[in-house]
Amino acid sequence: MNETSGAVEPKPLFGLTPEELRVVVESLGLSKYRATQLHDAIYKQRVNSLDEITTLPSDLRERLAAEGYTVGLPEIAQATRSVDGTERYLMRMADGETVETVWMPNGDGGERGDGSEAALEEEASDYDGAEPTLRDKAAKDGALSSVASYKRATICISSQVGCAVNCQFCLTAKLGMRRNLTAGEIAGQVAAVLNRQRVRIGSGRGVQTPSRINLVFMGMGEPFLNYDAFMRSVHLLRAMGIPESRMTVSTSGILPGILQFANEPVRPKLALSLNAPNDEVREQIMPVTRKWNIAALLDALRTIPFGKREYVTFEYVLLGGVNDLPQHAREVLALLAGMKAKVNLIVWNPGPGIDFREPAPADVAVFHRMLIDGGIPTFTRKPRGRDIYAACGQLKRTVDAPETLVEIATG
Ligand code: SAH
Ligand code: SF4
Repeated sequence: MNETSGAVEPKPLFGLTPEELRVVVESLGLSKYRATQLHDAIYKQRVNSLDEITTLPSDLRERLAAEGYTVGLPEIAQATRSVDGTERYLMRMADGETVETVWMPNGDGGERGDGSEAALEEEASDYDGAEPTLRDKAAKDGALSSVASYKRATICISSQVGCAVNCQFCLTAKLGMRRNLTAGEIAGQVAAVLNRQRVRIGSGRGVQTPSRINLVFMGMGEPFLNYDAFMRSVHLLRAMGIPESRMTVSTSGILPGILQFANEPVRPKLALSLNAPNDEVREQIMPVTRKWNIAALLDALRTIPFGKREYVTFEYVLLGGVNDLPQHAREVLALLAGMKAKVNLIVWNPGPGIDFREPAPADVAVFHRMLIDGGIPTFTRKPRGRDIYAACGQLKRTVDAPETLVEIATG
């Protein structure tokens, strides 16, 4: 449901901090506890519209609406489901700009091995048999539109409309940079997806208590080039009941952002898109390397006060013949020597107009094995939702998507 109010400029409440909600409430001459009610309704119950805030009397809701206030969640304009249960959404913001968000029941293996709660669960689940989840039961009872079952899920969110970084292998880069998302628009993607999937967190809204929700800031955009909104969204997401230990932010290597991140008292886990064994290769595929080279990025990572169990994740997109050879694996091992590092290998997902080739499966296996043998925990990400172009770097391909896509009802 999208609310807009005629002449008055819409003012989204989703995205406001407790203090900002207090200012709103005070400006209307209301008691302070109304701010707490609004906060709970927006972030815990995840209401879609003012009408749903039943803790407020209706005249008050009407007043808020008359002042132009809306809840202001992004709208799921289109949803596409993959055979593997992955769902890709086109999210429409109030000004009509769209970004993509992906729901991956059971994740994509990317959380493994970083010492986090998410990773330990994921690893343990390899052995925990096929005991039905609450979601299985709900699906069987017909309570859910989606039949996929999961014990945990990962939501991949966007931080910008487009991206300015121009990595040569990435489809988002082709869009160029349109605008930053606000913190409310970043966290709002998660609220919209959780509402659609009817996921309940704590005592909040929803029909079932899953499982765990993990978040990755790995959709469209470079989070560290929209730093303040990104960090603010982390706090909104915590207010929604998702701890920062279940969030991972991925950066292409924006050095000032990494340094700022190192000083955050509350911070998600960090992944660096290394993607190359040396500066020479990295400059070709990620021109941003000319500004901040690999050595400078690794030095910046060393300033982060990592927890005991914490590892830095290095993402490494394997591009056939470019960075996937045994000599490259040896260089990566040398680069990461002495760091508490784990590597996520990602098989490159092809896209129109992008001139690379997929790595041969045998080369992926050798690369993976060499890193493991060199002592680096290494995981090859399962490609999720490839049939719907929801995999890494494939977001926003809707324009010329193949006809085999299955469109499913939204809402
Ligand atoms: N801008 C941030 C986060 C979004 S991209 C970053 O670059 O880290 C998330 C991940 O997808 C990055 O590791 C990126 O290298 C990878 N990626 C981009 N395009 C891809 C493609 N076509 N196939 C596989 N991975 C890709
Ligand atoms: Fe931007 Fe990340 Fe794509 Fe590079 S890989 S263009 S930083 S979204």
